[in-house]
Amino acid sequence: MKRIISFISENKKMSFFLLLFLIVGCVLAGMYFTLSNGVTDILRPEKVSVVIDAGHGGKDLGASLGERAEKDDNLRLALKVRDYLEEKNISVAVTRTLDVYLSLENRCRFANIRSADLFVSLHRNSVASGEAKGVEVWIGSENLPEDRAFAQSIIDGLERAGISENRGVKSGYAREGSDYYVNKHTDMMSCLVELGFITNETDNKLYDDNLDAYARAIADAIEAQLNKKN
Ligand SMILES: [Zn+2]
Repeated sequence: MKRIISFISENKKMSFFLLLFLIVGCVLAGMYFTLSNGVTDILRPEKVSVVIDAGHGGKDLGASLGERAEKDDNLRLALKVRDYLEEKNISVAVTRTLDVYLSLENRCRFANIRSADLFVSLHRNSVASGEAKGVEVWIGSENLPEDRAFAQSIIDGLERAGISENRGVKSGYAREGSDYYVNKHTDMMSCLVELGFITNETDNKLYDDNLDAYARAIADAIEAQLNKKN
């Protein structure tokens, strides 16, 4: 009898640990899927009109100047653009709201699975040497007139907000290859904004001083584009 009682209490202990193990496992798996956006593969999220992509993140700093990392600048702006779009009652999702790493593939999947109408990727430019400055917006190498017009409206708005130089709308890819990954692999109209050079102090000061105005300019261009489509 004693043996049976001790067997049962032993099993209770085992059940308790098994349950604890399962709970901890579920929490960890949940955190992993949320952080890696794997959750989008399991639960189909709601459609949004716009996806704002905060370039880089986590271990991927992007370009940098001293302590200043591109990933932080991109995130600051992305969250402000989101806020302005929400004020306009435009449904929007940001690829990351925290300092976490996301692959380019996951960024595109994030937008595609939400059937977004527009995708705008936010970046800062950099140069190894020299004094390059100013803003440019990249569209796909197909160079579609409607893509170009949308990108042009963004850069025009930013110019009104105050930039050091308008470097224009460009198609394709700044380095080797045909396209920026996010322009090539998103299903909707997209562009990639290089909002000033992080390697240029003037551009950095403009970025900090005009962050609100930049966010508003981008949100206004997005709103105008969505109104065009409707
Ligand atoms: Zn970048």
